[in-house]
Amino acid sequence: MNSLNNNFSMPETQLPWHTQSIDFTLRKLNTNPEIGLTNAEAEQRLSHYGKNEIQEEAGRSSWQILLDQFQDIMLLMLIGVAIVSGILDLINIRGNNLSAEEIPFKDTIAILAIVILNGLLGYLQESRAEKALAALKNLSSPKIQVLRNGQRIEVDAPNLVPGDIIFLEAGDQLCADGRIIEASNLQIRESALTGEANAVNKYPLAEGLAEETVLGDRVNQVFTGTEVLQGRGKAVVVKTGMETELGKIAQMLQSVENEPTPLQKRMDQLGQVLVTSSLVLVAVVILIGVLQTGWSRIQELVEVSLSMAVAVVPEGLPAVITVTLALGTQRMVKRKALIRKLPAVETLGSVNTICSDKTGTLTQNKMVVQQVEAVQHSWFITGEGYQPTGNFLNLQQQTIQASDYPELQTLLTACVLCNDATLSQNDQGQWQILGDPTEGALLSLAGKAGFNQQTLNSRIQRVTEFPFSSERKRMSVVCRNSELVMYTKGSPELILERCQFYHQGNEILPLTVQERNQILQTNNQMAANALRVLGFAYKPLTEIPAAEEEEHTEQNLIWLGLVGMLDAPRLEAQEAVAKCLQAGIRPVMITGDHQLTANAIAQQLGIAKPGNHILSGQQLEHLSQPELEQEVEQVNIYARVSPEHKLRIVQALQKQGKFVAMTGDGVNDAPALKQADIGIAMGITGTDVSKEASDMVLLDDNFATIVAATEEGRVVYSNIRRFIKYILGSNIGEVIVIATAPIIGLSGVPLSPLQILWMNLVTDGLPALALAVEPAEPNIMKRPPFSPKESIFARGLGAYIVRIGIIFSIITITLMVWAYNSGQESGNPNAWKTMVFTTLCLAQMGHALAVRSHERLTIEINPFSNPYLLASVVVTTLLQLMLIYLEPLRKFFNTELLTAQQLFICLGFSSLIFVWVEFEKLFMRWFKK
Ligand code: ATP
Repeated sequence: MNSLNNNFSMPETQLPWHTQSIDFTLRKLNTNPEIGLTNAEAEQRLSHYGKNEIQEEAGRSSWQILLDQFQDIMLLMLIGVAIVSGILDLINIRGNNLSAEEIPFKDTIAILAIVILNGLLGYLQESRAEKALAALKNLSSPKIQVLRNGQRIEVDAPNLVPGDIIFLEAGDQLCADGRIIEASNLQIRESALTGEANAVNKYPLAEGLAEETVLGDRVNQVFTGTEVLQGRGKAVVVKTGMETELGKIAQMLQSVENEPTPLQKRMDQLGQVLVTSSLVLVAVVILIGVLQTGWSRIQELVEVSLSMAVAVVPEGLPAVITVTLALGTQRMVKRKALIRKLPAVETLGSVNTICSDKTGTLTQNKMVVQQVEAVQHSWFITGEGYQPTGNFLNLQQQTIQASDYPELQTLLTACVLCNDATLSQNDQGQWQILGDPTEGALLSLAGKAGFNQQTLNSRIQRVTEFPFSSERKRMSVVCRNSELVMYTKGSPELILERCQFYHQGNEILPLTVQERNQILQTNNQMAANALRVLGFAYKPLTEIPAAEEEEHTEQNLIWLGLVGMLDAPRLEAQEAVAKCLQAGIRPVMITGDHQLTANAIAQQLGIAKPGNHILSGQQLEHLSQPELEQEVEQVNIYARVSPEHKLRIVQALQKQGKFVAMTGDGVNDAPALKQADIGIAMGITGTDVSKEASDMVLLDDNFATIVAATEEGRVVYSNIRRFIKYILGSNIGEVIVIATAPIIGLSGVPLSPLQILWMNLVTDGLPALALAVEPAEPNIMKRPPFSPKESIFARGLGAYIVRIGIIFSIITITLMVWAYNSGQESGNPNAWKTMVFTTLCLAQMGHALAVRSHERLTIEINPFSNPYLLASVVVTTLLQLMLIYLEPLRKFFNTELLTAQQLFICLGFSSLIFVWVEFEKLFMRWFKK
């Protein structure tokens, strides 16, 4: 029934599936629960039903996004300036005051052009950001385990089709509506769909439910957008895409996160401060002007005010910030850290505590079993990787046959049956696993003794199970061969507690205290050698236990032995830990594993030193939250913890003022990830739920990547501070110069709005963009992190901006007064304005070079380490000269031809800024000494 013939018609999917029996559902959907669909069928169905996607409800319309751009207070002020400037031009035209060469409404048009350009730029960036984030969302879009051609494979969620048989596991986010055909302790959270926060138990009812059963009570179905909290199951997909219940409600899965970053919020506040202060300044200048000379110069005073208003707005800043954040995100992706929430880019640099899982993040997660310990025997196992070839050696290093030891035979059977992974060879003949590496290693171990997973599974059927969870730290399966047997594996101490007997040879013997102690001692020895140890047990059963009988069934077990596997630390993790310590970041290991294993690995990596205090999950349980808050200062290793402990640890650390990054992969890690300042999910082994809750996803599950991303975060933050310093300093200088001219009695406005726009956008903008890609300063990871709460103007930045603004204005005003007076004598009465314009522009070139470091002198920095900056300085200087020496541009920008002497004077004055900043650095060095 599984093949398609030519006149095959697509199955009807519009039935009330919850009312149907499993058999009918499978028949109707033309699928087979053991084989699934064939690839050809799946493809045909995909082209018929379309991709399994929920079309996202459009958030804001394009118009809305565009209109939103013009709500910025600084842009509104510019629009005001454009209007007033237009009115002035109109008055001039009426009064015939405009010279023949002058183009009317030039400033108005230029300002409006900038406003529109800024608006469009913002619009493009916002829509691009939305698209980029949507693409990131796709990148982390779930992969689903399905049965196709009889094989369990992973497919991207959009490629699911009705009739697919899907596997459900704890942590999965469901991407299609399905009818359950198998389930074991399956619990699903359907809050996204029904609003019900509690988990719902699901069952593979053979027959259907009544038609009127409401969504929340359809226990034989699973739905898109819900999450598997516990247990396992199998379902047949009945509806996909917009046909699903979620699609029907047409609610979006989750809106694309596009919140403004803290920096963007601060910039909005800055805009308000700048606009208010410029309005105050305008009022003061007009008042002083009117008091000095009466109303006769009012038009000139208004022109001055307009220029000041334009000068105070850092027009180029928003674009530079967006570009910097975007480039930061890109650099992080290159280093394998995917940012899911934009604020993380700038706040990552403030992290001072990284809480990391051990398995897979600090270790390689490539497990190889090295040692098996039954009560009376020890075996060492040779072989590498997952390849199931190797020998079992006894203490005398002689190869033994596993079949000679019944307890070992049973233990290896348990390894295969109590296991959800699969071991197979890829096209290149390499052995690989699908599933948990811990379980993969057990399959490989059994393979070395000749056990074949497929043969065993086909002979011995699993009838029910109590699945693994990080809280239970164990799993059991009940299998039926000739009789019912339960096989259990998990954390050795917990399994041993549940055992009353042990298996030796062909005998089942009672476990005495002495043997128990011996087993625990062996377990400790193995753990102290950095081995990850699992305990194995079994128990014959007379009947199949129900799901709620796990506690009672998993008692009175027969102990089989310990299996120790090596999971070597990642080489790069050691380096990353050292880097953290240098950078004032404390790495903390939080693991479900044994404390001695955790300790051994932590010491190899440098996270802990001999004698360091380790806190176990059990001890933690007995601590009140205030007590834990005291402890977290000293503890670097938490062992045998459960996910809910992680939440308490983060909260305690945060209470101590720490800025915490925390990793997680399981479904129950989500609250801790949300609570952490930076929640980090695992890209490879992480569940969909943990990814959804995170700020960042590690594409390679690697601790070193967290440290790399932190470093990038610091670079981004320091570059942002660098160009803010650069841009705002000059803005303040411009405003003071313009305001001073009428106050000291110079007639005419030194800078026209057009010239100011040119400065703010081009001559400031280009070098600022280049400063945004300034490479990391060598000491970036050698200093402690800055507080995330500090203002962007903290640590002297605000003072620097004001100071440099004043220096800018002193230099330029001196030049202005001199040039004004000499211009009056030399017969070029307007040259002083162009000299002021040129000096301000060129001064910024020197400033750009000097501002690269606030400690190192410019001559101490390799000039080619940021070639963009050199290029931008050269290009901007040439452009500025073109404005003076190319006639059409000269006319448009109302500049005057400068003589070589005048140009050199401008150059001389402008270089003083560079000299000043360099002297400041020397002074600071001397002062610190
Ligand atoms: P980390 O928290 O650093 O990732 P972990 O993998 O040891 O380390 P958990 O996955 O929470 O943490 O596992 C907790 C414990 O449960 C393990 O130390 C092990 O003893 C046991 N365990 C792990 N995987 C399995 C499994 N598949 N079946 C049974 N027991 C397991």
